[in-house]
Amino acid sequence: MVKGHLHSIESFGTVDGPGIRFVAFFQGCPMRCAFCHNPDTWDFQRPVPFEMTPKELLEEVKRYKPFIKKGGVTCSGGEPLMQTEFLLEFFQLCQQAGFHTALDTSGAIFNEKVKQVLQYTDLVLLDIKTLDDDLHPSYTGHTRSNNQAMLDYLQQIHKPTWIRHVIVPHYTDDDQHLTLLAKELQRYDNVECVELLPYHTLGTYKYKELGIPYPLEGIPPLSDKQKKHATDIFCQYLQCPIL
Ligand code: SF4
Repeated sequence: MVKGHLHSIESFGTVDGPGIRFVAFFQGCPMRCAFCHNPDTWDFQRPVPFEMTPKELLEEVKRYKPFIKKGGVTCSGGEPLMQTEFLLEFFQLCQQAGFHTALDTSGAIFNEKVKQVLQYTDLVLLDIKTLDDDLHPSYTGHTRSNNQAMLDYLQQIHKPTWIRHVIVPHYTDDDQHLTLLAKELQRYDNVECVELLPYHTLGTYKYKELGIPYPLEGIPPLSDKQKKHATDIFCQYLQCPIL
């Protein structure tokens, strides 16, 4: 019986997809984003708070049905696609029970099993870290190829997709970078909205606790003014909501 390694659960999530959502945060991530505020989710082998079978997790979801019936269930991380067997069974059960399913992913893993998971995924929240192929490996610990392949595949299968992009001062906040991404997304008619997420430093204490050097030491949070400027750039090129 497959069991999911879960980091934590949020019963009334409001920022990971539409409506009020049950959010399951998965343990384990193959990426090492410089700005990550959840380094405690990285290590799959790290003693996890709990393990559950897909059916057990669904039973937990059902406890909140009256609250999430207009929202749904989101699997986030870490990287949920590190646990495709579990995710596939869990999303199938969720859809059978009438819950909307959303997958929050970095797109770092893309293979035939992932395509199966996407058949039972109503909405994908796809993170794009940067379109800069040279920057991507040192910035995230991974090449960009799978992220691009997943974005293209989501378009091909007409999968509703929200793009999430963290804007980090000195790395991805310049006009050239923002314009490039906004223009690139014009090609994808399955993209329903773009969420621009300002870099913040709220997770730095976790690095201290884990004894990991913080890669962006000294980089300030993105200001409201910078966020508005970025939003204006995206609005110039895209018709979908820019959040
Ligand atoms: S993909 Fe997400 S969880 Fe993984 S390192 Fe990047 S920001 Fe952190």
